[in-house]
Amino acid sequence: HPGAEKWVPHKGGIRKVRAELDKCRGCDLWKDAERAVAGEGPVRARMMFVGETPGDHEDKEGHVFVGPAGHLLDKALVEAGIERSDVYLTNAVKHFRFELQGKRRIHKTPTASQITACHPWLVRELEIVKPSLVVVMGAVAAKALLGSSFRVTQERGKRVELPGGLPAVATVHPSAVVRSEEFRRDFGRFVDDLRVAVELLD
Ligand code: SF4
Repeated sequence: HPGAEKWVPHKGGIRKVRAELDKCRGCDLWKDAERAVAGEGPVRARMMFVGETPGDHEDKEGHVFVGPAGHLLDKALVEAGIERSDVYLTNAVKHFRFELQGKRRIHKTPTASQITACHPWLVRELEIVKPSLVVVMGAVAAKALLGSSFRVTQERGKRVELPGGLPAVATVHPSAVVRSEEFRRDFGRFVDDLRVAVELLD
């Protein structure tokens, strides 16, 4: 697969991106998903949050972070003093990847080639929004933005830089906190990482 590049508009703003995204055939994920889910938030956001892929709820509703992980993220943002409406939220891969178990659609981690295929969309969002800081949530977003050798567990909660020099903070994906057996501890650590991002922005 050639990847998303030929579908990504290099003129126009975020509306153009939103209009073109669902037409993308840069990898196979469009075939089974309901729709591509575009990033959301102000184009002048100072902070961009990057997650993994849309989940079941996001795919059905067409919005980012509206399922259980999104609800957890909402709570963590409040705790960290961040307004959801002030930040731009998106995913490293724009179509839901899943496998069917009976009638349930169970999330599957996108492959390295799917992450690479979808990367031009993320690059374009970064170009348009020009955030001052990126919060990289989970291993897939880290792979997309910080390289395959980056280890979220070791590097979380501190200032790192994307290859172009843009400041970033890596943390876990909120879905990992949702599933955590030590929820209070892991939720607290997630919020702490977001607070680091807030401090770096000030
Ligand atoms: Fe295009 Fe990304 Fe969807 Fe693949 S996942 S079809 S590259 S938008």
